[in-house]
Amino acid sequence: LVSREHHVDRTVVTVAGVPIGPDTLTVIAGPCAVETPSQTLAAALLAKAAGASLLRGGAFKPRTSPYAYQGLGESGLRILADVKAETGLPLVTEVIDPAGVELVAPYADMLQIGTRNMHNFALLQEVGAAGMPVLLKRGFGATIEEWLMAAEYIAQRGNLDIVLCERGIRTFETATRNTLDISAVPVVQRLSHLPVIVDPSHSGGRRDLVLPLTRAALAAGADGVMIDVHPDPGTALCDGDQALTRPEIDEVADAIARLSPLV
Ligand code: PEP
Repeated sequence: LVSREHHVDRTVVTVAGVPIGPDTLTVIAGPCAVETPSQTLAAALLAKAAGASLLRGGAFKPRTSPYAYQGLGESGLRILADVKAETGLPLVTEVIDPAGVELVAPYADMLQIGTRNMHNFALLQEVGAAGMPVLLKRGFGATIEEWLMAAEYIAQRGNLDIVLCERGIRTFETATRNTLDISAVPVVQRLSHLPVIVDPSHSGGRRDLVLPLTRAALAAGADGVMIDVHPDPGTALCDGDQALTRPEIDEVADAIARLSPLV
């Protein structure tokens, strides 16, 4: 269903009126995690400055360590709803288990499946059945074939509004948190009709790499980027090392405007 074999034209997925796909370059930005109402609103305003047309932010955070910040849960979703109402930015937010879909879906314009859940087939089927746009991040240990098969689980439930997100894979390299597999962008675009975007924040895990990795993503033909921003990265409860604030956001927005022939 997600292969280009029987579906030659590349798909445009529309999220609350915002297109993602060929002939567009969509910027999704926001805090890694919702922490407080003021932090989320400030991050959303920074996201707008970055040129974002969609707001990202996690209320449920599937962390490697059970002792790390796990997110605010439903109260985080309510904060996101308020910030969405105030900024007008449609919302991309993560759902981490099948039972959570019913709770998260009414708040979200697009459901995010994180890297750790790419193989959670029950969750994939549940978001497929929810009938709303899905952002499917690549598992950090998944091949492109496995990633596309995960998308197939969603599509099989009648939902083809799927955007794929390359977010780095695990390699022997330790200088970066993950290794951005930039070749995944053209490879996936050849194999699948689904849009593919890049997350330069989680790939490198480092603020200084967000700009060069964004440039690389655009040069490779990605249909968009997803970027972490935070009003005060030094106090961030989640992934502060990769969060942008001003002036880096202006540099990234400028690079996107200059490198994209479409913007
Ligand atoms: C995220 O985007 O909030 C996130 C946790 O990313 P990943 O699942 O790619 O680690």
